[in-house]
This record gives sequence, C-alpha cells and structure tokens, in this order.
Amino acid sequence: MTSRKALIAGNWKMFKTIPEAVDFATALRKALTSLPPHVEVVVAPPSVALLPTAQVLESAPIAVSGQNVYPANEGAFTGEISPTMLKAAGCSYCIVGHSERRQYFHETDAFVREKVDALLAEGITPIFCIGESLAQRQANETFSLLSTQLNATFANRDREQAEQIVIAYEPIWAIGTGHTATPAQAQEVHAFLRQQLDHSFGADTAQRIRILYGGSVKPDNIDDLMKQPDIDGALVGGASLKLDSFVRIVSFQSPAA
Ligand code: PEP
Repeated sequence: MTSRKALIAGNWKMFKTIPEAVDFATALRKALTSLPPHVEVVVAPPSVALLPTAQVLESAPIAVSGQNVYPANEGAFTGEISPTMLKAAGCSYCIVGHSERRQYFHETDAFVREKVDALLAEGITPIFCIGESLAQRQANETFSLLSTQLNATFANRDREQAEQIVIAYEPIWAIGTGHTATPAQAQEVHAFLRQQLDHSFGADTAQRIRILYGGSVKPDNIDDLMKQPDIDGALVGGASLKLDSFVRIVSFQSPAA
C-alpha cells in the first residue's frame, strides 16, 4: 500500500431482507465506532434495503453501495434502478461488471462502460469488477482478457475521471469457491493492471487508482493480501454477511498502521 486509502467493501448479493439488513447495519455501526483512519468501509445491500441501511449508517464512517445500476436516469426500463435513484437512496458507490452480472445477465464490456459513465455523471464511485475464468487462466489468457476488460472502461477517459473509478480484480475461479488467489498471484495481476494504467494515464494517476482484490477473502487471508504493495482493499462476498468475519477483515493488520 502507498498513500491510497484502503477500501473494504462487503457485497451482500441477494442476501438479507430489510429487517436483517437494518439489524446488521446497526451492529456494524456499533462495532466500527473507531475505524482506523487508513480504512474506508462500504456495504452493498440488495436494492430494497439500500435506503433503510443508509439511514442506519447516516453519519457513521460506513458508506453504502448499490450492487447494480441501469445507465439512464429514468425511463421505461422495468425492474431497473437508476444512478439518481441510487443517490437518493444514500449510495455513494455502486458495483458494476460483477462476474455474476456478466455471466447470468449477459452484460458486455460496452454495457459496463455505459454504467460507469452514468455513475460518474451522478457523482457515484463505480466499483468496476474484472476477472478471468479458470479456463482463461489455464489457457494463459488472463492478462489479455484483463487488458481488454480494463480498456473497455478506461479508454478515452481523462485522468480526473479515471481516478474516480475503483477497480476490483475478482478471478471468477475464486468467487464463492473458497479458492483464494495466493497473495503473490493477486499481486502479479494488480501490478499488471497498475502498469496498464501507468501506460494510459501516467504514474501519478496510476498510483492514485485503488485496485481491490475479491474472491474468497476471509479473516485468515486478508492480512497477507493487504501486505501486497498493489492491493488496496477487498471486495468481500460471503464473509461480509457475518458480523464477526467482516469486522475482522476490516481490522486487517496494515503494514501502514
Ligand atoms: C464477490 O461476490 O464479489 C466475492 C468476492 O464473493 P466471495 O467473497 O464470497 O468469494
């Protein structure tokens, strides 16, 4: 880690009803009253629970994120939620391009870019997910795939905009499987991504962009992951649903602390 502020984001996916989300947020708020200054915490509840969760977390040092967005501010898009609506529900972040959205809802790189643009226009920070499948890793396609995914969102963008995007590297083979990338494997990819950003935007911007790791992050692997120089935080699925494990992850042993 350099001077980039660490970010730990919990993706609740399609878990927790409104009362469960409110209870969890209430307990989390109590548990994180003295959050260390080098860490930022975000939770991403299901869309119906965004506002009640944000109300519980108001004035707490815990931000709220959407899990998805549609790239228009209003219109006849049944079932969708707009950047304006996310903002009105208390969100300052939104996850986009998650592999589950790419896989089950056929979201393309171009569509993900539209979402990023729509969020930036509304002042919401995108948490932009990229990552390779096991087959792609085994076929040595990891770096070319990541480069394609990264460019689809970052090409023709100015530095100021680029710095507002948080990248989450999530190897698909590590999501929900219990198989974390080793810290060295993750660092190798994060260093590659930062190098690509350096080529496109220069060193200053590349050093400011936060790159999170996601994929079976747990209390027992977060410390080693966070020791890597290019890992700036984590996007946590399963382990963010339990208070103890999420609080432990947020309290990772930082080399900067
Ligand atoms: C995720 O959903 O982004 C994720 C990384 O899930 P898990 O931590 O459960 O692997």
